[in-house]
Amino acid sequence: MAGTKFGFFDANVRSINLDVETPETIEGVLHREPSLLKCIGCGNCAAMCTAGHFTDLRFYRLNLYLKRGLVNEIRKEAQNCMLCGKCQLTCPRGVNIRHAILLMSSIRP
Ligand code: SF4
Ligand code: SF4
Repeated sequence: MAGTKFGFFDANVRSINLDVETPETIEGVLHREPSLLKCIGCGNCAAMCTAGHFTDLRFYRLNLYLKRGLVNEIRKEAQNCMLCGKCQLTCPRGVNIRHAILLMSSIRP
């Protein structure tokens, strides 16, 4: 019965391996998350951020760091994000903040 097909097949793996580093660049982050360009720096995201009450994390500042090329500052601050998404609930410009921080975290100098 070699070669008989029963309608089943092995699906391609679609999981994300977070242990594998995918180095990102500043241009790459802006390209992959263009909503960053819509930020008006209102600060709503920082006011809502739980991690920001205990750490230096301020998303609008991360965005400024990104545009100024301050990679070390980005990495230091972005690591405090819990990816909870509360900030996105309050953003008037619809910035995809969690995705942006995830990308920012993988920037390498
Ligand atoms: S809430 Fe949105 S528009 Fe306001 S600073 Fe944060 S990301 Fe920018
Ligand atoms: S996703 Fe990150 S930046 Fe946004 S509220 Fe949660 S901890 Fe703060």
